[in-house]
Amino acid sequence: MPLDLLLLGPPGAGKGTQAKRIAGEYGIPQISTGDMLRAAIAARTELGLRVEPILAAGELVPDALIVALIRERLGERDTASGCILDGFPRTIAQAEALDEMLAGIDRRLAVVVELQLTEEEAVRRLLGRAEQEGRTDDTPETIRRRMEVYREQTEPLSAYYLARSILVGVDAGGQIGEVHAAIEDVLERVRAREGGS
Ligand code: AMP
Repeated sequence: MPLDLLLLGPPGAGKGTQAKRIAGEYGIPQISTGDMLRAAIAARTELGLRVEPILAAGELVPDALIVALIRERLGERDTASGCILDGFPRTIAQAEALDEMLAGIDRRLAVVVELQLTEEEAVRRLLGRAEQEGRTDDTPETIRRRMEVYREQTEPLSAYYLARSILVGVDAGGQIGEVHAAIEDVLERVRAREGGS
């Protein structure tokens, strides 16, 4: 039974870090649209050139483009046993498209783990990351815009998944290991339930 998971949460909540650990432990690929877009930019592909200014401004790439990217990615063989999504979906339209894509292959999200963090702490972490990693979208202005975009476009996904009874909140304010343990607790419960059904 494939295990399809989603990590939700504001920029800076640690989605990428946590998704990578979960992917390693559960033997399922991490699918990060942000990483895919950054790879396209680095490779100077047509897609990369098109999205570069959008990422630099902290805006969202158009839904149709992102959905096409995910559709193709979900068609790859390594996702047969499931996947952990991080950074997608970011809008209600993307969430609806994902539900349809998964239903089309007779699958559905097993759980949505929301990493919960105050905006203040999220911004503090992003500023720290800006110094360490030099991500071009981690400048103070872009960070402010990304938080706004999150609040306006992505936060409504909590209610969307809550209404489907698959949302679980996890406090992301602690150390990486503590947050990881909390996520694992959730996933073990889900796995027991899915395995038993
Ligand atoms: P991330 O690494 O997930 O923070 O994504 C970095 C940037 O890539 C975002 O600020 C957006 O510009 C773009 N991006 C990543 N995922 C999506 C998505 N699902 N929809 C639209 N834009 C995205």
